[in-house]
Amino acid sequence: MTSLSKTLASRPDDARPVVSLEVFPAKDDAGLAALTDLARRLAPFRPEFISVTYGAGGSSRDRTLATIEALRRATAIPVAAHLTVVGASREETMRVAERFRAAGVNHIVALRGDPPDGESRFRPHAEGFANAAELVAALRARWPDVRISVAAYPETHPDSPSREADLANLKAKFEAGADEALTQFFFDNDLFADFLEQAQAAGVTGPIHPGVMLIPNFFQVRNFAERCQASVPEWLKRRFAGLKGKKDRDSLTVHRMLAAAVAVEQVLDLAARGVRHFHLYTMNRPHLAEAVCRTLKGGPHGES
Ligand code: FAD
Repeated sequence: MTSLSKTLASRPDDARPVVSLEVFPAKDDAGLAALTDLARRLAPFRPEFISVTYGAGGSSRDRTLATIEALRRATAIPVAAHLTVVGASREETMRVAERFRAAGVNHIVALRGDPPDGESRFRPHAEGFANAAELVAALRARWPDVRISVAAYPETHPDSPSREADLANLKAKFEAGADEALTQFFFDNDLFADFLEQAQAAGVTGPIHPGVMLIPNFFQVRNFAERCQASVPEWLKRRFAGLKGKKDRDSLTVHRMLAAAVAVEQVLDLAARGVRHFHLYTMNRPHLAEAVCRTLKGGPHGES
């Protein structure tokens, strides 16, 4: 087992595991109700924050804001807002950040974002931020105390010409004022360990928290992984082989059991290597996230 670079992944001052949760904005009232249920269900595990993803464009942006407001009303979990620079001028992007701040958000996940559907390469808006580092610098200049997270890629961002360039970009995001990085998901913990080592060698000094993908539907996650060029190991494909499209109760139960096993194995191995903060991609479902919280932290205090 490769152990992790201590400075980047662990919190020497506090050995207790910490989780954060990521959700995507609800599409309708039923989705909002499901998300507030998720937040209430997971609140007893004291997540450090719950972050809400962001899509460029008016309706998607408004859904992020509505979701943030609903989550803030539902529990005391601090809410983080994702923000991208796609398709907007600097002024427009900062205005969205202001709206998040006005809704009580003190934590922004600052991202470049992906090109809109149908376009293969990211092209900055003529008056927009060119990348995440520029957005981080503007947010930091405007709000010295806001918490800022950025993205990191254990398997290198697909647009990056090299691992070195990707790490230099991550370093630039920290130098611009980021407090921490959250990673793209990965299923092979050795990839993360190697990445931390290389980040440290490249002069990255801020904390990097692993993003752990929970698997409500393996076959959807596999397609998603392909799109963001995250590798899916053969051993994982073999575990779910033959379950595609099977809707009978036993197959669904087996799928759920496998998904829980994969998540639990991954976080226990990361914890054994020194990881203390786990960023969970919940896919808006509470059960796997709760199983991981219980594995890492035990059940809620005071309950037997
Ligand atoms: P950047 O850090 O700006 O960099 C992207 C790539 O471009 C890197 O390879 C970098 O090396 C290269 N690059 C940057 N600047 C330059 C330069 N000046 N010259 C040459 N190359 C450069 N997407 C959404 O749309 N909404 C979300 O809510 C969202 N949440 C996410 C959360 C997490 C934790 C992660 C890991 C990703 C998320 N994404 C989200 C996806 C993200 O927007 C994409 O991966 C996007 O393609 C890159 O964003 P970034 O912030 O990493 O970009």
